[in-house]
Amino acid sequence: MVQSGTDITSLGLYSQEQLTWLKLAREFADNISIEETIASDKKNEFRRDLFEKACQVGFGALPFAKDFGGKGGDYTSFCLVNEEFARRCVPVMSSVGVHILCQEPIYRFGTQEQKEKYLTHCSSGKYLAAFGLTEPNAGSDTAALQTQAYFDAATNEYVINGTKTFITSGASADIFIVMAKISGEPHVPYAELKEGKKDSTITAFIVERNYPGFEIGQKFDMLGMRGYSTCELVFTDCRVPSYNVLGQPGQGRKVALSSLAKGRVTIAAQATGWAQGALDALLKGLKGRSDINFDQVATQIGELAIQVESARVLTYQAAATVDRGAADVTLAAMAKITATDAAMKVSTEAMSILGMQGLAPELLLERIFRDAKAGQIYEGTNQIQRMLIGRDLIK
Ligand SMILES: Cc1cc2nc3c(=O)[nH]c(=O)nc-3n(C[C@H](O)[C@H](O)[C@H](O)COP(=O)(O)OP(=O)(O)OC[C@H]3O[C@@H](n4cnc5c(N)ncnc54)[C@H](O)[C@@H]3O)c2cc1C
Repeated sequence: MVQSGTDITSLGLYSQEQLTWLKLAREFADNISIEETIASDKKNEFRRDLFEKACQVGFGALPFAKDFGGKGGDYTSFCLVNEEFARRCVPVMSSVGVHILCQEPIYRFGTQEQKEKYLTHCSSGKYLAAFGLTEPNAGSDTAALQTQAYFDAATNEYVINGTKTFITSGASADIFIVMAKISGEPHVPYAELKEGKKDSTITAFIVERNYPGFEIGQKFDMLGMRGYSTCELVFTDCRVPSYNVLGQPGQGRKVALSSLAKGRVTIAAQATGWAQGALDALLKGLKGRSDINFDQVATQIGELAIQVESARVLTYQAAATVDRGAADVTLAAMAKITATDAAMKVSTEAMSILGMQGLAPELLLERIFRDAKAGQIYEGTNQIQRMLIGRDLIK
């Protein structure tokens, strides 16, 4: 399948290694039939087999150093893969993105034992990872977390109680990075916990699926981002060994924020892929349509193509800062906003131009339209991101 508009492989912007990852992503997507893609969406079914295959190719640990099974690729390569996956609505795209997001803090803050135990299995696909931050009453405002953990000195375990919601891959994952607030001050074994600051007790834990007191709650049958096992996680006196604290107690915010810029760049790459996929679908749908006056829609289509390209430029500029080791949170937010808004606009207008034929599932337009809506919301809503960019400038 040839991409509409600019052929990014011929721009001379990407290294041979980066283009090799793109080629692998294209081959991977080519092996998934449109029927399979539609089925995973329709049945809201996670394709574990595809996730494992993706890890065998190397996508599940692409941008990490080779020590624990990482593939030594750069973030630009990972973005190229994500863009390609989203363009074709590859059913495991979002789970692979979150899987990488979860490994990042283990690489940065994990102990040697945690790295050996979890990263190697994450890279091979034996373990699927999920990120548990959001709660029913704590979405944008992460400081409002209500999930609590107290230290049980008798067993050297933390005991977690609370509920996480809208967790991608939740119902299928093997390990979870979970944020909880430490309570029960007398039992806290570390002196560095600061009283008084509302987020200074947030702590990151690595929770395994089989830990006692851990359960999968409600599974969500959502408008978009279907087929990703998105669900609630319920912790009822869930016991987590103290050596599974990720980073130090009270460092949870730092742990969560550490992968923020990269996470947003990943979403930007995915959304650029959605926008490109919607443009591809529009041009495909226009073929043979004698009832549409092409002159009348040419300017509108030109404008959509500009939006796709603008999203791509910002996304790879943000990815370049990650690869330079100076990830820029503001640039990442700008890329995420621009790309998800572009995906929403291109898919919406493409369906308007094509009329009812634009709603055919095989065209993937209506699917992209539904997924793009979620993209505008998660990893920080676009409204809040805009506000933060503005505040930062005023400051
Ligand atoms: C498909 C999907 C997958 C997800 N996967 C995960 C996951 O894997 N792990 C995870 O932890 N979470 C996940 N989430 C949750 C996601 O991160 C939250 O939806 C997101 O943080 C927004 O929170 P909220 O939905 O509660 O919106 P709210 O915070 O309730 O916001 C609602 C509205 O109010 C606005 N608003 C809120 N606060 C302010 C403010 N201070 N100033 C101005 N405006 C404000 C927002 O911009 C928005 O328009 C997922 C969500 C979706 C939809």
